[in-house]
Amino acid sequence: MAEHSVDLFVIGGGSGGVRAARVAAGLGASVAIAEDRHWGGTCVNVGCVPKKLFVLASEFAETFADAAGFGWNVGQTGFEWGRLLSNKNQEIARLNGIYAKLLADAGVTTLNAHARLYDAHTIEVGEDTYRAENILIATGGEPVVPGIPGHAHIITSDQAFFIGQLPKRVAVVGGGYIAVEFAGIFAGLGVETHLLYRGELFMRGFDEDLRIRLRDAMQARGVHLHMPCEIESIERNDAGVLTCALTHDDPLETDLVMYAIGRRPRVQGLGLASAGVQTDTLGAIVVDDRYRTTAEHIFAVGDVTNRVNLTPVALAEGTLVAQQLYGSAPAPVDYEYIPTAVFSQPTLATVGYTEAEARAKYGQITVYESAFRPMRQTLTERSERAYMKLIVETASDRVVGVHMLGPDAAEILQGFAVAVRAGATKALFDTTLGIHPSAAEEFVSMRTPRT
Ligand code: FAD
Ligand code: NDP
Repeated sequence: MAEHSVDLFVIGGGSGGVRAARVAAGLGASVAIAEDRHWGGTCVNVGCVPKKLFVLASEFAETFADAAGFGWNVGQTGFEWGRLLSNKNQEIARLNGIYAKLLADAGVTTLNAHARLYDAHTIEVGEDTYRAENILIATGGEPVVPGIPGHAHIITSDQAFFIGQLPKRVAVVGGGYIAVEFAGIFAGLGVETHLLYRGELFMRGFDEDLRIRLRDAMQARGVHLHMPCEIESIERNDAGVLTCALTHDDPLETDLVMYAIGRRPRVQGLGLASAGVQTDTLGAIVVDDRYRTTAEHIFAVGDVTNRVNLTPVALAEGTLVAQQLYGSAPAPVDYEYIPTAVFSQPTLATVGYTEAEARAKYGQITVYESAFRPMRQTLTERSERAYMKLIVETASDRVVGVHMLGPDAAEILQGFAVAVRAGATKALFDTTLGIHPSAAEEFVSMRTPRT
């Protein structure tokens, strides 16, 4: 058994862990990082990156259909799932290599192994022991699977990225980011797609006008929405067909059942108790506003703290921990205006407060909205409208919420997030010239408040 000593030991080679390790090493610390699966973590391997590649793949059918109106005769098209999968896997392997190289180039010791805490300063990695002055836990999360009868037939997003064959029919359960994104992917690739959500309207927490419009748009694109509805049990026959008994509907026959009902922090087997690290009732590591756990020299960032489970947040938190330990005192992460996009079809993107939240927080608000047919659809058969909404605090004229459902929403909202964080007023939006013709210019052209 070999014993090593480092300034910082990072457990988890995902978004938060890799960023913290690289920044700390760059600031002169001796750093080791352990990753028991693939470098890059959830985002690179079974999250943001392969998801976005799948979304892009699934959008082509619509593009081919729209092309006719613009004068194109598109020949016979066909889709090969196997080719997409293998190209995606190749791209992810390339990214795994880049992550490992970035760490090695920064002088970080990389350990492709499971790590567990022995005590508040000691980590066990296989046969080896590491003594560390500071420890960062960035072990991420894992999908939740329900214990319903027949749960062995369920897959989650972790497996969805590797299924050997595209099913003819799929039932996706959940009403959050992953369920809505995968329903769009499957539907776009021609799979008969059913989305089952336990409440009346999915995407809780987002602005209601966008949730309603997303529901209508998904329905119009052929996704079968079952709301409210839950699966009570799943049975598989000899031919592999799955029959789901439903709470609010007739039994549903399908070929694949995918659950996306949230993720829980990955803390099992980490040895948290032996190091004095406490978790909350959901298993999330409890941290203070500087990511310090209940053990003084142990920090935690990202999904394992189950606060805002997004890659840019994990990156910002990881950077901050490294800087506060080995650099100068950094500015805290600003959680008030976190922009986010759901890569549904159409895309939903947002920054700031929903109408309901703003009304509760500020009392008097002014709402501006616009619904229009995007130019790329004008020569097509499609009648879907893009939707944009601005929420303004009336007293200060400050724009406190920007929301969009439509093509390029994620790309458009990133820039507006800067404006909202900078405290831009509606008057400033009004005097900003548009880029014409674009969809984004609508955000600086809304003059009449909604009554
Ligand atoms: P992770 O990236 O999960 O990294 C944790 C790493 O720790 C993992 O690689 C794990 O193998 C490793 N690990 C765990 N325990 C141990 C141990 N004991 N020893 C060694 N290694 C260990 N966010 C966005 O911002 N945009 C998106 O579009 C987006 N899409 C997503 C799509 C899906 C399907 C999913 C599941 C998530 C998506 N997310 C997205 C969320 C994003 O992936 C996470 O918020 C982000 O990866 C969190 O980073 P992290 O460093 O906290 O954890
Ligand atoms: P979410 O928390 O986004 O959504 C979970 C959904 O499952 C909700 O609709 C919830 O309903 C429902 N649900 C919860 N428990 C149950 C249950 N027991 N039975 C039935 N339904 C249930 O989780 P996801 O799994 O979709 O994604 C995890 C996280 O990953 C996201 O929250 C996000 O932070 C991140 N992510 C980000 C993406 C992005 O940035 N584009 C993409 C994908 C993931 P209810 O609302 O009623 O509670």
